[in-house]
Amino acid sequence: MNAFHYHHDQLQVEDLPLADIAREFGTPCFVYSAEALTKAFTAYQNAFSALDPLICYAIKANSNLSILQLFARLGAGFDIVSGGELARVLAAGARADKIVFSGVGKSAAEMKMALEAGIHCFNIESVNELLRLNEVAGKLGLKAPVSLRVNPNVDAMTHPYISTGLKDNKFGIAFDMAFDVYREAAALPNLQVTGIDCHIGSQLTDASPLVEALDRLLALIDRLDEAGITLQHVDIGGGLGIRYSDETPPDLAAYASQIEQRLAGRALKLVMEPGRSLVGNAGVLLTQVEYLKLGESKNFAVVDAAMNDLLRPSLYSAYHGILPVEQHANLSPLLCDVVGPICESSDFLGKNRELAVKEGDLLAVMSAGAYGSTMSSNYNTRTRAAEVLVSGKETRLIRRRETLDELLANEKALLQ
Ligand SMILES: *Cc1c(COP(=O)(O)O)cnc(C)c1O
Repeated sequence: MNAFHYHHDQLQVEDLPLADIAREFGTPCFVYSAEALTKAFTAYQNAFSALDPLICYAIKANSNLSILQLFARLGAGFDIVSGGELARVLAAGARADKIVFSGVGKSAAEMKMALEAGIHCFNIESVNELLRLNEVAGKLGLKAPVSLRVNPNVDAMTHPYISTGLKDNKFGIAFDMAFDVYREAAALPNLQVTGIDCHIGSQLTDASPLVEALDRLLALIDRLDEAGITLQHVDIGGGLGIRYSDETPPDLAAYASQIEQRLAGRALKLVMEPGRSLVGNAGVLLTQVEYLKLGESKNFAVVDAAMNDLLRPSLYSAYHGILPVEQHANLSPLLCDVVGPICESSDFLGKNRELAVKEGDLLAVMSAGAYGSTMSSNYNTRTRAAEVLVSGKETRLIRRRETLDELLANEKALLQ
């Protein structure tokens, strides 16, 4: 059964009515299912078991400490993109040697932090970054493990804002330049060339571009091997999509078997960096209807969650299902836009939805576990939402709702 399901006319998470959570913790509130998180991770482990991969959860999708801990206990490694994220995963008790560090703009300070922690690998995105890392490692008397993020120039066929593997993207080292950059890396004294990686985009609903990207990397690996540069791991990135409405995400087992075929007989450790597919459908954003505003040409359900809580609809015109927490059989549905209180026309969570709701009702914005809380902001001086993790009937508040005092604290300090 889906972790989020109706029991009679009440929407539940696992064994608990969402209405109970709203009563105890207030709204807006992110609610996650521990079971759904666990199932998503073990599905990867099971599908890829023959390859014994290092599954590095890309924490920018959802970096709550409790969620990191849950994945760490299941054996996850982590993919990080900043010094802040490094501090987070270490605070969650992650093993440093299971961390890969991605991102185009690593500062010298971030490199130093990661070197001192002893991470598994730096995913390097440019020649100048390579030179900087060599210098930072040299000062510390350390050898930095590096992988080059190669841009395989494969079209992920997803939204342009989340497509990263094409020539014009800021990410990665161009495929045609990669061989020479590897030779340069291998000649630098404070670097240890250990792997190769790519990440071509997010929310992919077809796995074939991912497989095509791997084929390109393998061809390069062979060429490097002939030149005396032998890599130990290949990192295929993340990017597998989830179902928001009617998408059919790639079948994990079928994807895994394609990867398995290609890695058969090679002494290459598989690393991967899934984000969205581990957390996206394990969370919802719980919100309350403040007003029903009936208009001449449009109706609106004005709710207490907004684009500052869940930016994806405003940023990418992304679709999220929106379900009433209580179903009313006797209420006729209203065609409406579900909007927040923020002073922007782009502040919407859903458009043209048929919802049988009245003021005061609760709504669940579905598939909000990925790129929800991590992209949230304080725009319009709104405090960030609470986050609750549910297991069975048990709730754990894993992030307190931010207070206005906390929000103003840094500014007050400057006036004293
Ligand atoms: C964002 C990101 C991921 C995770 O992508 P998903 O689509 O959420 O799986 C993996 N690797 C890198 C380098 C990323 O930037």
